[in-house]
Amino acid sequence: MMTVKPKTAALALAFALSTASSFANQGLGTDFSAQTAPVQGSGPSARFITDSRKATWPDAVVNYYYNPSNQPAGISTDTVLGLIQAAGRKWENVCKVRFNYLGTQSADPDVEASFGTIDRLSVIGWMPLTGDKAGFDGYVSWWFQGNPPSLVDADMVLNTSAGERLASDPKALGALITHEMGHMLAIRHSDVQQSVMFASPYNSYSFQNTLRGDDAAACASLYGPSTFADANRIFNWAEQSFSQFVAPTGVNSLDLSGYHYRFFSQTNSYMAVKDNTLLFLPTGGAVTPLGNVDQILPAAAAAGF
Ligand SMILES: [Zn+2]
Repeated sequence: MMTVKPKTAALALAFALSTASSFANQGLGTDFSAQTAPVQGSGPSARFITDSRKATWPDAVVNYYYNPSNQPAGISTDTVLGLIQAAGRKWENVCKVRFNYLGTQSADPDVEASFGTIDRLSVIGWMPLTGDKAGFDGYVSWWFQGNPPSLVDADMVLNTSAGERLASDPKALGALITHEMGHMLAIRHSDVQQSVMFASPYNSYSFQNTLRGDDAAACASLYGPSTFADANRIFNWAEQSFSQFVAPTGVNSLDLSGYHYRFFSQTNSYMAVKDNTLLFLPTGGAVTPLGNVDQILPAAAAAGF
């Protein structure tokens, strides 16, 4: 496996490999993720890239399985599943798609299959990557057919050879999975440097814990924005930019009694939205209205969220 330092990795892996379809209305997409390295954002200058045919999942639901074979020692199936479900929730927070876990599965992620031989089971699992893929941490292939095109299968491989490093840092693994789940939606690598789906070079895993405005726009272009997309974009901005008030990053949004909210365990505080008003709630302190979501969103958007 690859042991290069992050900056070297960024140079060595500053590309995205993709395989174009050779059929009019069916085909395959592939994207890889490598060990990530920090990169200086330069501000939105371009745009997300979806599959050119804008293939989508029927009923906006990604039904998927997990195969724990080859899972690295030192991390449990429950932990990996928790990371997968949390990553799925990040996408669900900003667009009207749903990741639906169907259970464990013994079928391998058949990322190398041709269209005629796919099993139509979307499987997330582990395999040792070798050869020209040895340096990658993850890898997704997806298949679609019909007109308009529907996705029929998407598989994610996590690299067992990098498993020891990933297993020792669940947050990094969760960030990797967040990026890869974007590919399971047939979102390609973005031209926007301040994007989880940017990959030239890859952003750091710390960065990839929180979706950006460009990621939200990519998913919304396929499925429409989620009910609380604007509030979640503000939450995303807050957790990356105001860590003295809300930490850690990568927290999931929940719903209770009309509140859509995140609880931040490190700062022991909440951010919530109710009736389009954004609220900040330090535990034990007073609820502080921060303003109207519509009035605050432009600042989040300007910051890249
Ligand atoms: Zn990628």
